[in-house]
Order: sequence, then C-alpha cells, then structure tokens
Amino acid sequence: MQRIDTDFYESISGLGNFFGCARKYKLAKEWRALKVKPWLELGSQVHALMDNKVPNECWPKAIRIAERLVEAEKDYGFKVLEREVKETVTLAKGLKLVRIIDVVGEYQGEPVLLDYKVPNKPWYTINRQRPKAMGFQPPAYLFKRPEKKMYFLVAPADDSPVKAHLYESCKGDEKNVIQAVRIVRHASKMDYFPYNRGFQCKWCDFANMCYGKKGWEDEYTKRS
Ligand code: SF4
Repeated sequence: MQRIDTDFYESISGLGNFFGCARKYKLAKEWRALKVKPWLELGSQVHALMDNKVPNECWPKAIRIAERLVEAEKDYGFKVLEREVKETVTLAKGLKLVRIIDVVGEYQGEPVLLDYKVPNKPWYTINRQRPKAMGFQPPAYLFKRPEKKMYFLVAPADDSPVKAHLYESCKGDEKNVIQAVRIVRHASKMDYFPYNRGFQCKWCDFANMCYGKKGWEDEYTKRS
C-alpha cells in the first residue's frame, strides 16, 4: 500500500510571504507572475553566477555584484566547501522546512553557513542590531545542522561596500520559526488567507491580479 505523505512543507520565502500578506502567500502558491521584478531578477542572476552557472540573462550589474562578493569572500577569509545545498528538514512532527543553503563553509576554522543578499541599500540597524539578519531564515537554516553561525554577505546594489553580518544560533528563534510554520499550516487547513492591503502592495508581484487591473490574466500563469 502506498504511504500518503501528510506532512506540511514550507519554505522561507513562503513564510516571508505569509507574514507580509497571507493572500499573497496563497496567490504565490497558485500562480506565477510572468514578469519578474527587476530586483528579484538581479538577485537570481547574482546567485546563479556565484554558483558558477550561466543565468538566462546576465546584466553587467549582476556580474559586478558577483565580482564584489567573490572579492569580499576572499577578504573576509570565508572558505567555501559546498554551494547551493538543497535540504528538507523536520522542524517538528508533521512540519518540514525546505531550504537551499547558498554556502556551507568555514570561517576562522569554524563551520559556518553563508547567504548572499543583494538589497538596494545597506541593511539598517536598530539599537546596533540588524533586523534583516534576525528573521526566520537563519534559525531555520541552522536547524539540526552542525554549524552554529550564519553570515549574511550583503552586497548592496547601490555599490556600497560588501559587509558580512553574523547570526548565532538561538533556541528561542528556533521555537519562533516552528510556531510560524504551525500558524501557516493552520491557516492552510482552514483556508484563512486575509488581504493585508498597504504599503507592501507597491512591491507585490500579485498586485495587478489582486486589484483587478484590466488584462491581469495575461500577466500570470497557473502553477501545476
Ligand atoms: S497586492 Fe497587497 S493585498 Fe494584494 S496580495 Fe499583494 S500584498 Fe496582499
């Protein structure tokens, strides 16, 4: 008899979507926008270049950023052991997280994970802490791995210097991620996906669909 997999699978981008706007999460599960936003395209080109792949399109800006990242990796002294490591990890009973780790490596003799980020500007601080280095991603990526530290190598598209920002493993943050995935599972079971209309709609891939802009049907394709 075939075993039915009843586990709930989530990714970091799914979590990010859900907690920004639950409706966006649902739309992103069901539809794909045919036109990719320029900043997402730039990020995926840079990631492909860092993984020694040739992206479909390759902008000069992406090449410059990838070169800056390679240089920064050397300057900081990060050692790359593996790239683009795809894993599925069990967070708790029935809860799985799908992750793609940019780099498994070493820093100053210690095992670490590395993640590349290409924001428009350098990451901001609040009380000398960087919220962007403290989200769901690092505890979810370090979960059940031997590394206890993750570095974000941040190469702003505005040509500001590349900086490495450290995150250290924390049990409280792990619990926070598990709770977040449980909330998403519950919402999915109940089909609770409320809109959260506001400033974030400006950057949302599904804004034209969500706001019923004439011709939106031609901008998306249904996921199989
Ligand atoms: S346009 Fe706004 S309300 Fe609609 S899905 Fe996107 S973020 Fe949510």
